[in-house]
Amino acid sequence: MEKDIKTILTECGFGFKKQLGQNFITDKNLLSSIVAASGVDGGDTVVEIGCGAGTLTRAIAQRVKRVIAFEVDKTLQPVLAQTLSGLENTEVVFRDFLKVNMPEFERETGEYFVVANLPYYVTTPLIMKLIEDSDKCKGLSVMVQEEVAERLCASAGTPEYGAITAMIALKAECKIVKRVPRTMFYPRPNVDSAVVKFTFNGGIEVTDKAKYKKVVHAAFSSRRKTLENNLVNSFGLTRARAQEILTDCGIDLKARGETLTPEQFSRLSDKL
Ligand code: SAM
Repeated sequence: MEKDIKTILTECGFGFKKQLGQNFITDKNLLSSIVAASGVDGGDTVVEIGCGAGTLTRAIAQRVKRVIAFEVDKTLQPVLAQTLSGLENTEVVFRDFLKVNMPEFERETGEYFVVANLPYYVTTPLIMKLIEDSDKCKGLSVMVQEEVAERLCASAGTPEYGAITAMIALKAECKIVKRVPRTMFYPRPNVDSAVVKFTFNGGIEVTDKAKYKKVVHAAFSSRRKTLENNLVNSFGLTRARAQEILTDCGIDLKARGETLTPEQFSRLSDKL
């Protein structure tokens, strides 16, 4: 009989590292529904980041052409040798994905989709890396704690909306495609999770991405201040000039940054 994942982890003497967000998924139905929700299929190459004990890796590998799985914790090697045995389309790279040189990596990989189940402190830099440094990533499905998922997909004017949401709009659209209760993880975390699917569709029109980023960060630098005040402080504008630009863009002088849509940030950055 096939050994269960908990037995393999115990036999390999594996010790969970909380700081690496090591909460694994073992339920086969859930694993295949996560792969289905991420939309990867057929001839796709999938880059999985944080393969853990390889349960999601195996579910992905059964559906696509090629899997490149990154895992930062080398002590998972004996576990993965068992859980991924016999999968000829899968290779494991024991490396921190955040340190990968993207142009070099993408020259070898070609177009690919990313699937990841990661702790929050890795998710934001990962999203930014794919938005800013990647040319060949066509989509990303990432499992994060539910509250973070709500923030990533928030609309302008809501309390969850922040700089990360406006930055995502530079390249992608995203939506929550699946909710996963905490009871489905081993060991069980303190929060529920959700899968967010990003489609890299070219994003909104932006003339100068560096300036857009600066405007977004200025707008959210102090959420309690008006956008006018944040622009004066971050761009060294006179108050009169800041007001003139906001009026030109049709933005209320009392507006706060969090009420602006990504398209409005783009128009504003063109005027600055
Ligand atoms: N994919 C598995 C699953 O769904 O059961 C494991 C998910 S577990 C939440 C996250 C995994 O990501 C851990 O095994 C951790 O060691 C790994 N990890 C954390 N940071 C990483 C990074 N920067 N690069 C690669 N792997 C990382």
